[in-house]
Amino acid sequence: MNVEDYRIQPNTKVNLGEWDASDTGTVPDKETAQYLLKENRKKIIDLQERLYAESAQSMLVVFQAMDTGGKDGCIENVFKGVNPTGCRVRSFKVPNDVERAHDFLWRYHQHTPRNGILQVFNRSHYEDVLVVRVKDLVPKSIWSKRYDQINHFEEVLESNNTRILKFYLHIDKDEQKKRLESRLDDPAKHWKYSSADLKERAYWNDYQEAFEVMLEKCSTATAPWFVVPANHKWYRDVVVSSAILAALEEMDPQFPEGDKNLDKVKIPN
Ligand code: AMP
Ligand code: MG
Repeated sequence: MNVEDYRIQPNTKVNLGEWDASDTGTVPDKETAQYLLKENRKKIIDLQERLYAESAQSMLVVFQAMDTGGKDGCIENVFKGVNPTGCRVRSFKVPNDVERAHDFLWRYHQHTPRNGILQVFNRSHYEDVLVVRVKDLVPKSIWSKRYDQINHFEEVLESNNTRILKFYLHIDKDEQKKRLESRLDDPAKHWKYSSADLKERAYWNDYQEAFEVMLEKCSTATAPWFVVPANHKWYRDVVVSSAILAALEEMDPQFPEGDKNLDKVKIPN
């Protein structure tokens, strides 16, 4: 499995119909995938501790998907065991009145990571070119400028040593049907079901188009988008964890040196 296969190169045309949501790459089965995920996670946990201790750079991981795409499950599986002191997850819902009274990036900027922090966005500033575009929540003259504005925003973060990774979890329409049905069948999943999900599903093609434009315009060399095959949750988790691990290894965070002459320190009784 090579995560680079799923990275969108800057300014290339994306046709999601050509991306197999059931792809499992070279991973033969769920058991192997779970083993790979565990191995990745051990290394992520170690590197995250170093990132926190070093406190000189940070990471922002963005998740977007259609409803039932698996954002929550993927976050749970990939970051299990990471020290919560240095890791934050922020979910973004429909903006409230105060948020709506500001520029669209205001509410996101407040949650970008400080040095040392690994920050996860469950939905993100990209909603403002997804649901907002599909549902005409603001005029086209406004949302169409946001792709450039988002790229600039992310450039500002990168200049501040924030490494950005963005994952679009790609499921197909049949898989969404199954997942919505299973939410209806299982009382423990009822809380996840919203009648709004059916309304959104009716806009499936419009959403796919909005995702394609987002992927084309906002996958940059330094803040790439990955299209993650997500019909199989186990494969999805391997791809996402592998991309995060590769980025952390490249960042190569180091434990700071302690004070000099620590070997001479005597702790008094
Ligand atoms: P969920 O993540 O399932 O709890 O749903 C959150 C809902 O908030 C989704 O329907 C999103 O499309 C919606 N949402 C998130 N961000 C925005 C935004 N900037 N504008 C409008 N709706 C949003
Ligand atoms: Mg939902």
